[in-house]
Amino acid sequence: SLIEAPTIWFDGALVPWQQARVHVLTHGLHYGTGVLEGTRVFATADGPAVFRLDDHLRRLARSAHMLRLPMPYGAEELAKGTLELLRANGHRSCYLRHFAFLGYGAMGLDMRSSPTTTVIASWEWDSPVGSEALRVMTSSWRRTDPNAVPPAAKATGPYLNSVLARREATDAGFDEALLLAADGAVSECSSENIFAVRGGVLRTPPAGAGALEGITQDTVLTLARDLGVEVQVENLLRSDLYAADEVFVCGTAAGIVPVRSLDNRELPSAPGDLTVRLRELYEAAVTGAEARYRGWLTPVG
Ligand code: PMP
Repeated sequence: SLIEAPTIWFDGALVPWQQARVHVLTHGLHYGTGVLEGTRVFATADGPAVFRLDDHLRRLARSAHMLRLPMPYGAEELAKGTLELLRANGHRSCYLRHFAFLGYGAMGLDMRSSPTTTVIASWEWDSPVGSEALRVMTSSWRRTDPNAVPPAAKATGPYLNSVLARREATDAGFDEALLLAADGAVSECSSENIFAVRGGVLRTPPAGAGALEGITQDTVLTLARDLGVEVQVENLLRSDLYAADEVFVCGTAAGIVPVRSLDNRELPSAPGDLTVRLRELYEAAVTGAEARYRGWLTPVG
């Protein structure tokens, strides 16, 4: 359940949490015409800091560009609004949701008659998938085809694909769903990117397989290279995951979470050795304990 914070940034003003409301004929509610970001604020020795804020705001702008959604606020204003909100809400650590959607103005598919509503919300949230090793199943739902709706845009409507897959997996008693692209290549999980380790080589599918360009995925690739690990961004088959020494998923909300089994085939270890090393370095990076990654942190101040 959602833990209320004092305020929400709503079209440029801080309003009380319960007053951040929209009309039922909001365009984005009917047609999924919105873009969103999930970002985390971590407790560091110098107080709370936002992890990779600029990268999240850049991806938000890219998503809006792909949808042709007008953005009334630029990245600088959104960054300023984010810090204002965080100072007002006073969290030690939290989850942040930036989103923009076509608001109230007109019904029908034409995008041009509705204004964009922009919101930044923050709340204290534990990982939605937990940190226990996951039992994952391959979904019967395919990842959204890039020529139907671009999965590279982190947009609200396409999340139905993830929601269907997650529900199918949990109904079947699994923790998470793996989605394949139309051609059968491994894409990603419902809200995390996926990695496999075999023979010491770390592999993850490219955006071309219908995966979101995950910021945690990019973080993990950077950390792995810094550890001297060989990394390959390339297409994987589900059998590559069955045959792996270690598999883990990663995302902003989840962090780095080991996979225990895929389609009831147990992995040899969960967490595996590299997963543990990456998780420790990730933890040090997001909390500012590792000086070389402090450039990724924006102090709330
Ligand atoms: N894939 C999907 C479909 C997601 O929703 C997310 C969460 N944003 C991710 C991957 C992981 O992305 P990130 O590391 O940027 O949170």
